[in-house]
Amino acid sequence: MTRPSDSLSYYRASANPHAEHPRLEGEHVADVCVVGAGFTGLSAALELAERGFDVAVVEAETVGWGASGRNGGQICTGFSTGLSKLEAQVGKEDARKCWALAEEAKTLMRRRIERYKIDCDVKWGYIHVAPKRGDVGYLKEMQDEYEALDYGDTELLSKEQLEENLGSTLYQGGLRDAGAGHLHPLNYCLGLADAAVSHGARIFEHSKATHVETGANPEVRTEHGVVRAKFVVVAGNAYLGKLIPKLYSKIMPVGSFILATEPLGENRARSLIRSDDAICDTNFVVDYFRLSGDHRLLFGGRCSYSTIEPKDLGGFMRPRMLKVFPQLDDVSLDYCWGGYIGITMNRIPDMGRLTNTVYYAHGFSGQGVLLTGMYGKLIAEAIAGQAERFDLLSRFKHTSFPGGPIRTPMLVLAMLYHRMLDMVG
Ligand SMILES: Cc1cc2nc3c(=O)[nH]c(=O)nc-3n(C[C@H](O)[C@H](O)[C@H](O)COP(=O)(O)OP(=O)(O)OC[C@H]3O[C@@H](n4cnc5c(N)ncnc54)[C@H](O)[C@@H]3O)c2cc1C
Repeated sequence: MTRPSDSLSYYRASANPHAEHPRLEGEHVADVCVVGAGFTGLSAALELAERGFDVAVVEAETVGWGASGRNGGQICTGFSTGLSKLEAQVGKEDARKCWALAEEAKTLMRRRIERYKIDCDVKWGYIHVAPKRGDVGYLKEMQDEYEALDYGDTELLSKEQLEENLGSTLYQGGLRDAGAGHLHPLNYCLGLADAAVSHGARIFEHSKATHVETGANPEVRTEHGVVRAKFVVVAGNAYLGKLIPKLYSKIMPVGSFILATEPLGENRARSLIRSDDAICDTNFVVDYFRLSGDHRLLFGGRCSYSTIEPKDLGGFMRPRMLKVFPQLDDVSLDYCWGGYIGITMNRIPDMGRLTNTVYYAHGFSGQGVLLTGMYGKLIAEAIAGQAERFDLLSRFKHTSFPGGPIRTPMLVLAMLYHRMLDMVG
C-alpha cells in the first residue's frame, strides 16, 4: 500500500487554531484507550469522557490526519447501500431501526456543533444529480424509499430546475435532500477533539499503536509508551494496515482525490451552485463537489483501487471538474490531495467486538462523515453497559475480501468493469 499524499490540503491550510498533543511516553492507565483520532475514535472518546470515563486516545499522526480530515465534507442521509441490503440481512423492522439511528446521527452532529461551538462552516442541503437519462428513474426510486421511511425532506428536480441552480448542463435531473449537507471536516474533527479534552480525555499524537493486547487486561503499545486500560476501541479504519489481521481482511483502502480551486469570489462561486448545497452524482465512481466557506469550488472524485496516487493530481482531477464546469478553464487550482476510504465487501460499516474488552468500527464505505458519530457513540454506550443499539448495528455479516495477497489487483479489475458502465451513457 502506498502512502497517501501528505501534500497540504485546503482543510489543513484553513484549519482553526488548535492544540497540539504530546507523544505517548512511558506507562499510562485509563478506563478506555482509543486507537485513532478520526471521527469514529473521537466520537467514542467524547461520549465516554462526557459520561465520566477516563479516556486516552493514541493517534499515529495528528488529529484528523486520516480520512476524517481529508474528505469531501458531504453529510449524507442513510447508508451508502440503500435500505434493501440492510433489510436482506436483518429484516424490515431492524433495517428501519438502523435507518432511524442514521437519522439520529444528524441530531447528534447538530447538537455537538452547537454545544461545543464547533466552527466548521456547516450547511444543510444536498443534491443527488443524474448524469445519464437512465438514472433519473433511480432518483425517483430513492425518493420513494425515503418516503416509505417517512422521510419527507426530498424534492425531485427536472433538468430545467437543476440548471436554474447549477452552472452546469451535464445533468438530466436531481433529487434535493434538505436534511443532508456539508461541512469543513477537519475543523469538525478538531472541534470533537477539543470537546473530548474539555471533559478530561488525553490525546497523544505521533503515537502509532504497534501492538494491541486483546485479552482480559488489554493494552496498547506504541514505540515509546503503553496504555493499560479496561477497554480498547480500535478506530484506525483504512489506515490501520495489518496491525489486527482479522480487521485488515474485512476492509480495503480505496484512494479518492479532491481539488480546491483558488477563491472565486462569492458571485462566481454562487453561479456554480446557487443554493450552496453539496452535490453528488449517481455514478458508481462518483463525482462530488461543493463550495467552501471562502468561495472555492471543492471537487472530489475519481478513485484509485490500487491505492497508487497519480503523480500529477491536479492534472488528473482538473478534466473531471471541467467536464462539469467548462467555464472554469481559466481558474487555477490551489490545493489537491488524496486520502483512503475504507470499504467493506457489502458497503455496510463493520462494527463489533474482537473480545469482551476490545471494540472496533470501520469500513464506512465513503459515507462516514455522519455515521461515524453514531458508531462511535454506540461503542461508548456498549462500554457503559447499554449494548442494545450497538448490537443492532453490529449484527451485519461481513465477509473478507477475496484474493488474499492479490486482493488489490482483483478489486482493480472488478472496479474497472463498473467504471466502464459509468461511461456508457
Ligand atoms: C478523499 C475522501 C473523501 C471522502 N468524502 C466523504 C464524504 O464526502 N462524505 C462522507 O460521508 N464520507 C466521505 N469519506 C469517508 C469518510 O471520510 C470516512 O468514512 C471517515 O472519515 C472515517 O473516519 P474514521 O475515524 O473511521 O477513520 P479515519 O478518519 O481514517 O481515522 C483513522 C485514524 O486512525 C489513525 N491510525 C491508524 N492506525 C493507527 C495506529 N496503528 N495507531 C494509532 N493511530 C492509528 C490514522 O492516522 C487516522 O487518523 C471520504 C473519504 C476520503 C478519503
